[in-house]
Amino acid sequence: EISSTRENNVAKIKVVVRKRPLNKKEISRKEDDIVTVSENALTVHEPKLKVDLTAYVEKHEFCFDAVLDEHVNNDEVYHATVEPIIPIIFQRTKATCFAYGQTGSGKTFTMQPLPLRAAQDLVRFLHQPIYHNQRFKLWLSYFEIYGGKLFDLLSDRKKLCMREDGRQQVCIVGLQEFEVSDVQVVKEYIERGNSARSTGSTGANEESSRSHAILQLVVKKHPEIKESKRNNDVNESKAGKVVGKISFIDLAGSERGADTTDNDRQTRIEGAEINKSLLALKECIRALDNDQIHIPFRGSKLTEVLRDSFVGNSRTVMISCISPNAGSCEHTLNTLRYADRVK
Ligand code: ADP
Ligand code: MG
Repeated sequence: EISSTRENNVAKIKVVVRKRPLNKKEISRKEDDIVTVSENALTVHEPKLKVDLTAYVEKHEFCFDAVLDEHVNNDEVYHATVEPIIPIIFQRTKATCFAYGQTGSGKTFTMQPLPLRAAQDLVRFLHQPIYHNQRFKLWLSYFEIYGGKLFDLLSDRKKLCMREDGRQQVCIVGLQEFEVSDVQVVKEYIERGNSARSTGSTGANEESSRSHAILQLVVKKHPEIKESKRNNDVNESKAGKVVGKISFIDLAGSERGADTTDNDRQTRIEGAEINKSLLALKECIRALDNDQIHIPFRGSKLTEVLRDSFVGNSRTVMISCISPNAGSCEHTLNTLRYADRVK
């Protein structure tokens, strides 16, 4: 049983690294696992050659809030990242959980189960008399940022635009929100959204690695409405006042940000956009960490969309996913350096 009054001392920013196991292909190629984990530290053993071609290993050590090795399952990931934040969503917290890393490092594998578990816990809270009587409800939305544009994943990929109101609140015009009062429904929306993610012509994983997928669970407090005045869900969602929310973001593959010299023009544009958004994200989290008054939201579409989650009572969890194989060494080091700068 979760207590709604639990003392909260959840860190404002938490950086967690998750290492996946070697996959079948890497094992069949006899690739080495070059990442060793010891409590909240990890070492990357980088294979190198000297000028005279003698081989040696250069060690790189890193330390984070938590490091999860290849034996850690998704439940344990949930406990280490999102679970502690859930109770404070009802205390006006806006939380964001990111998965960062190269394509194939386990971002989607890590991210997929988290909103479901979070919804389960949030729904349990909603059913407690204290919240039930206050007319609190849970709403879900799911959209994608692709090439700097927003698409609703639960509304036939309808193109969306963003607007700032007078109080510097960001509003995504036309984004569909659905009330979710049981977990099975949440599961169905997630599956529906997943199948709507960018697939393009070159195959699912290839294209989805160029987009950021954003799933939001929002707790709203609703005014008393007479049954006769009840409209459809969308209007009712607008009538509620946001109490708190949590956003789950499966970021574009970090290596895609380097696609800025590709021969294909479209790929170059997308690469530049991804590069810009990942840099802007890092700058915003650093500014948050330093309690800076000015947060550089305007650096990218991604950070602009997340603007209201970076002000006030915010919590950020960055899950950096890494591949353990020698062939991914350079990307792994890049990911860890990025995480190191954020922490
Ligand atoms: P990404 O989203 O970063 O491109 P995926 O989440 O699609 O990567 O993971 C790539 C592959 O590795 C998938 O087949 C996934 O099931 C597998 N995988 C990733 N992380 C783990 C893990 N911790 N344990 C087992 N398999 C994993
Ligand atoms: Mg993925």
